[in-house]
Amino acid sequence: MFKIYNTLSRKKEVVKPIKAGFVGMYTCGMTVYDHTHLGHMRTYVNTDILRRVLEYNGFKVKQVENVTDVGHLFGDRDMGKDKMEAAAKKAKKSAWEIAKMYEKEFFETMDALNVKRPTIVCRATEHIKEMIELVKRMEKNGFTYKTSDGIYFDTTKIKDYNKLSGMPLDKLREGARVEINPEKRNPTDFSLWKFTPKGIKRQMEWESPWAKKGFPGWHIECSAMSMKYLGDRIDIHTGGEDHIPVHHTNERAQNIAATGHPVVNLWFHNAFLKVEGRKMSKSLRNFFWMKDIKDRDFDPLSLRYLFLTGHYKASLNFTWESLKAASIALEKLRQTVRESQTKQKVGSGEKSLIKIKQYQQKFLSHINDDLNMPKALAVMWKLVKDKNVSPQEKYNLLSDFDRVFGLGLEEVKKIKIPQRVKKLVQLREEYRKAGDFKGADKVRKEVLELGYKIEDTKEGPKVKKKENIK
Ligand code: AMP
Ligand code: ZN
Repeated sequence: MFKIYNTLSRKKEVVKPIKAGFVGMYTCGMTVYDHTHLGHMRTYVNTDILRRVLEYNGFKVKQVENVTDVGHLFGDRDMGKDKMEAAAKKAKKSAWEIAKMYEKEFFETMDALNVKRPTIVCRATEHIKEMIELVKRMEKNGFTYKTSDGIYFDTTKIKDYNKLSGMPLDKLREGARVEINPEKRNPTDFSLWKFTPKGIKRQMEWESPWAKKGFPGWHIECSAMSMKYLGDRIDIHTGGEDHIPVHHTNERAQNIAATGHPVVNLWFHNAFLKVEGRKMSKSLRNFFWMKDIKDRDFDPLSLRYLFLTGHYKASLNFTWESLKAASIALEKLRQTVRESQTKQKVGSGEKSLIKIKQYQQKFLSHINDDLNMPKALAVMWKLVKDKNVSPQEKYNLLSDFDRVFGLGLEEVKKIKIPQRVKKLVQLREEYRKAGDFKGADKVRKEVLELGYKIEDTKEGPKVKKKENIK
């Protein structure tokens, strides 16, 4: 039984899909106006873990993920500047170019982290028709009103509007008051469609039944695209915890207004990542992205390992020290895999078979208990150290666990040191023996440039791949 915490009911619930054996899952995607930072990476790695655990339990998963390439304003409300247009102006590029560039970066980052590609990726700008139709449906059902700057959603028409966050209505209203729009009937009301202001030329705008030119509000895209691809009964909807009080609360309201029922059964939210104990922000210069990881010679999968060491509902504090520790742990794991690949198969006795079963059961019980990955990792390390399990069985079990961990353990091959590097290492030894330490150091540097590092041990020099040493 796979249990997962549902933000809506505030309880762990057994996953019972609408259609037996099939899970429809919608993932709130990136706003593609800037780099994919460490916080995003954590949320999407954890979402990937959720998908993998569903698959490990035998469910077929259809994951739909959007790309927000229009409509998301600064401050997540209705009055700030448009993130895409502002980024385009700053970079002296078109909003379309910016979107394309950061979408590419996002998916490349996800690939490096072994995050499975969604079954369907859908861009907001390619679903304007569906969004307009949905707004029209809500309009017909009496949930909307028009102001001088757009079509708004009347949140008082939803009787349990605050159910997802569980926050008292006046607290939600207070949060919404940050931005003052005198024409809004209630502070929590939000725009469904915005009109392009007079005298402004936007790069992204479309004709609509309400005004000549305009663009969608931020929340409408997710309601429109999730229902288009998954129907109006959806098993799981995912996102970061910041989405609970505004974006997902409003999405839920839209769904109810359009269909008469809540649409999503289970809301899955990831806690935020902090960097060196602080919120991420450009001014604090702690806004790291994949380039920073690679520039410091870390394997991106070390980052995935680091994310696995924390529970998705607890906030995680990223430090370069913790990444270093994660990379050492991952390398140890890879070493175990390499060793078990090369060692001879040892016949598995009955005792050993019972042990393997126990490991499997423990692992399953932890991942099925609201994705307890730290405990699942602990089971794996116990297995790694267990002398009573043969290398072959260890390898098989590690490969099986890695269907969930996604650390690419199956692909770990014995490191092959290139001939050129081997020759250089030999040459360095000759220099050293001759007392030419300057020459030896020069060769060491050359080896380093080729991506390998020499470690002097009692048994002589040992060569390792650079990324494996931290
Ligand atoms: P955005 O592009 O801002 O909509 O963010 C994309 C996803 O990343 C959303 O699900 C956010 O909740 C999530 N996210 C943004 N910042 C962080 C962070 N610091 N830690 C974890 N998740 C984050
Ligand atoms: Zn969304």
